[in-house]
Amino acid sequence: MEKKQFKSESKRLMDLMVNSIYTNKEIFLRELISNASDAIDKVYYKTLTDKDKKFNKDDYYIRIHPNQDDRTVTISDTGIGMTEKELEENIGTIAKSGSNEFKSEQKMEEEFDIIGQFGVGFYSAFMVSDKVEVETKSIDEDQAYLWTSEGADGYTIEPSDMKSHGSKIILHIKENTDDNNYDEYLEPYRIRSLVEKYSNYIRYPIKMVVEKSRVKEETKDAEKPEYESYLEDDVLNSMVPIWRKNKNELNDEAYDNFYHEKRFGYDEPLAHIHLSIEGMLSYKAILYIPGQPPFDYYTRDYEKGLELYSNGVLIMDKCGELLPDYFSFVKGVVDSEDLSLNISREMLQQDRQLRLISRKIDSRISEELKNMLENDREKYEEFFLAFGNQLKVGTYDSWGQNKDKLQDFLLFYSSKEGKLVTLKEYVDRMPEDQKYIYFASGSSVEHIEKLPQVTIVKDKNYEILYLTETIDEFVLQTIRQYAEKEFRSVSSDNLGLEAPKENADEPTAAETEADEKLLEKMKEIIGEEVVRVKTTGHLKDDVVYLSTEGELTIEMEKTLNSMPQ
Ligand code: ADP
Ligand code: MG
Repeated sequence: MEKKQFKSESKRLMDLMVNSIYTNKEIFLRELISNASDAIDKVYYKTLTDKDKKFNKDDYYIRIHPNQDDRTVTISDTGIGMTEKELEENIGTIAKSGSNEFKSEQKMEEEFDIIGQFGVGFYSAFMVSDKVEVETKSIDEDQAYLWTSEGADGYTIEPSDMKSHGSKIILHIKENTDDNNYDEYLEPYRIRSLVEKYSNYIRYPIKMVVEKSRVKEETKDAEKPEYESYLEDDVLNSMVPIWRKNKNELNDEAYDNFYHEKRFGYDEPLAHIHLSIEGMLSYKAILYIPGQPPFDYYTRDYEKGLELYSNGVLIMDKCGELLPDYFSFVKGVVDSEDLSLNISREMLQQDRQLRLISRKIDSRISEELKNMLENDREKYEEFFLAFGNQLKVGTYDSWGQNKDKLQDFLLFYSSKEGKLVTLKEYVDRMPEDQKYIYFASGSSVEHIEKLPQVTIVKDKNYEILYLTETIDEFVLQTIRQYAEKEFRSVSSDNLGLEAPKENADEPTAAETEADEKLLEKMKEIIGEEVVRVKTTGHLKDDVVYLSTEGELTIEMEKTLNSMPQ
């Protein structure tokens, strides 16, 4: 038999392929399943355009058969198959995509979703195999063929006696090496999990024969029933992605189930958003606002991102570009037919498409949170306790460029009824004579309530925001003012309050002089710890309080001083 050489610098390309295009060996299965799905799509397409042909759904499926004894994994399909010429051209020529050609020849409708386009996916089989066979029979020819290759040094083609149209890809799995475990690809459970991960939404059933056990019929009434094993097909993929379904077909439970199925978290999500966008860039998405932060949420290990699918095939586990940092807690999936992918499908070629999607996602999450804040306060507070800190960080991060957007999502503890309030609620009920939005910082609410200045401001019937987290003051510093009202710490030396009448009597000159002496003495005793000691007309039950001059509050100074220099 004549051994043919791969065309077009194929040897070098093949080497490149196998060793560098993909970082992840396991994707070989995704690529071969995608090809099988394309092959069935092509039959389907032919029947659409040919009145004499019918597409009987039950006849079309993909089957995976791992065989540990032979060290083979076979992926077979009942698709369109390949003629000898097609085998040469599409499998024998690297970077030639029969699928891409098919698409342009047929001038296919947009909703026709063939996955292949680069003509390299097939070769990923060589990442895990030292020999690959393709047995195939075209729907248009009687003769079947067997293509065999052991990698870079070429391939052979010979006739075969396969009976019905379709293809069978037989992978001879490599032996384990010190660095790589190939045996795992022969394990049914591993194959099942790879299908669920990458190919769960392929539209045709992906079957695998599994060995099961049952009670022998004749012993079923016996005292000790006997068991027998038998083989049965399991369908590994769920086929219809929930995001392609219509919103009104789905209830909350279905969305929650999907959340858990995807292992986004063990908690109950607080809300979900189902997007279905049609246009220049069409995509569908399901997004969740979780109920609880994952254990590593506020650590460096946490990685934000959404699952990104291209036509139901997983491209990226965590696409970070789809979420702004301040919404990094959001979980979900995005699926688009219109993404331009690069060869390995590990990266996207154009950020512009991602930016468009992420902008939309950003605005829909904002809408959802706004809606929750306005209509389900209890739920919103639950959300805020879980993720409020992230929104606070978002307010001052990136030089505060998102503060206008985020400030209305923030809640602060307030002296009024000890509840959480928004800045808007605070400002809306401010008495007319109140000049500033007051805040007081401290390690706890009890601590703050003991501050003498808090009593003073409260006595005026002014509300105070209680800041118990270090981050809170940075947030207010960034926002600077809300509804044209500046923030003012109660520890500031200028509270903007009118001095109480009964203390406002002009002191006599002698009194003033005595005061001055006393204050000087006090300063002498306290020393460098304070800048100045002075009198105030505001105190009631307390005799003294600490205040600051200028921008920084006492709590801020403490924080800054405790930071590494
Ligand atoms: P792509 O899928 O991007 O086109 P591949 O390297 O994965 O590139 O496949 C190359 C070509 O080989 C496909 O375009 C298709 O024409 C053909 N092919 C691969 N697998 C099959 C199959 N199971 N059935 C029919 N044709 C196939
Ligand atoms: Mg392919």
